[in-house]
Amino acid sequence: MKLYYINNDQTRNPGLHHEVHTSEHAAELRISSKKLVGYYDNEVQAVQAAKSFYNDADGCAICCPRAHRG
Ligand SMILES: [Zn+2]
Repeated sequence: MKLYYINNDQTRNPGLHHEVHTSEHAAELRISSKKLVGYYDNEVQAVQAAKSFYNDADGCAICCPRAHRG
């Protein structure tokens, strides 16, 4: 399982939605304002859970490719 976060700042990606990242990638990107989504088996489940924070939650193209819609 991996730990996932959602970025509170939706302006940091081209699609202007709230992006879900693994904890590793969130640290790499130095995302300062984020919410803890929790531990999930995969990014599809993590993005599903993150929709309780933000309706437009989407997976990061780099660390959550299977949940990335654009
Ligand atoms: Zn990412």
